[in-house]
Amino acid sequence: MIVIDGSEGEGGGQVVRNACALALVTSQPFRITNIRGGREKPGLMRQHVTAITAACTIGGGECEGLNVGSREMLFRPGKVAAGDYHFAVGTAGSTGLVLQTILMPLLLADGPSRLVLEGGTHNMLAPPFDFIDRVFLPIVNRMGPRVSARLVRHGFYPRGGGRIEVEIEPAPLVPVVCAERGAMLSCSATALYTGLPFDVADREIRMAKKLLDWPERAFSVRELPEEYGPGNILLLEAVYEHVTEMVSGFGKLGVPAEQVAKRAVGRMKGYLESMAFAGPYLADQLLLPFAIAGGGVFTTVKPSQHATTAADIIQMFLDRRTAFQHEASGTHRVTLS
Ligand code: AMP
Repeated sequence: MIVIDGSEGEGGGQVVRNACALALVTSQPFRITNIRGGREKPGLMRQHVTAITAACTIGGGECEGLNVGSREMLFRPGKVAAGDYHFAVGTAGSTGLVLQTILMPLLLADGPSRLVLEGGTHNMLAPPFDFIDRVFLPIVNRMGPRVSARLVRHGFYPRGGGRIEVEIEPAPLVPVVCAERGAMLSCSATALYTGLPFDVADREIRMAKKLLDWPERAFSVRELPEEYGPGNILLLEAVYEHVTEMVSGFGKLGVPAEQVAKRAVGRMKGYLESMAFAGPYLADQLLLPFAIAGGGVFTTVKPSQHATTAADIIQMFLDRRTAFQHEASGTHRVTLS
């Protein structure tokens, strides 16, 4: 039995989600103790319970200790079945993180699947829908499968109510080499807002414009239907020949709009100034598909603790080693073998 100390490394929900995905892919059960031991409020939160429940449902699995607040659980995988699934994360739990848990197993299932996920689509500390759609899935699709995602309705914290639909056509994942990003094709900064004064989004965009040397037409403000709100997110997107990077700034009560924009621009500049293929979030999210493919290479910025922890969890389930190699150009070369 694989036993994981959930407080080690990054110590968050990603440890649990990756473990569930790997358990389903490799048919190995696991026990995890000290769940989210690295977090201020440890234990499973509602969105983790939904993600694990989703893993049990698609994979005929069984789980002990699956309740909100649980610090320890046991997961026994069954057989993954393709199908039409509907999961509601409740309140504004991230739909993207549920997808992160069940996508890889469904990619290896014996037929196509269709997912309807309801909850938050643009949450802090989770991949926003646009990131999944334009940054993460294009690389997964390059590895063989056909996955397409549709945003039916935005869902922001705390109200939720968002909906995404995902179509999955499985195929064996093949290793790919993602070393070069290629030339920049376009860039954009979009401030989405709903149920808040226009001024909030406008100030974000004005600050972004001041700090980024991007053409005037790259900047826009978009109001979403009132019933989706309140909510606000600033999305900065840089499209290259071989990869897209997207950085998000989440509007939050008490944080000035200028501050939201400054932080997001700071992170985007970090990526623009590097030569790396993957930004920090894409890097930790690529490790699972690369490991399942049995190898592959990508370059990234300085690996995050999410990435190194994901590599450790992968090694527990699969006989795969992840090497992080600092290169002279300042990028890091990540090789799975
Ligand atoms: P955890 O903190 O353990 O719940 O994991 C969070 C996951 O969400 C990781 O896979 C991150 O890469 C991803 N994530 C968090 N924030 C963002 C963001 N702004 N854009 C894209 N992915 C994100």
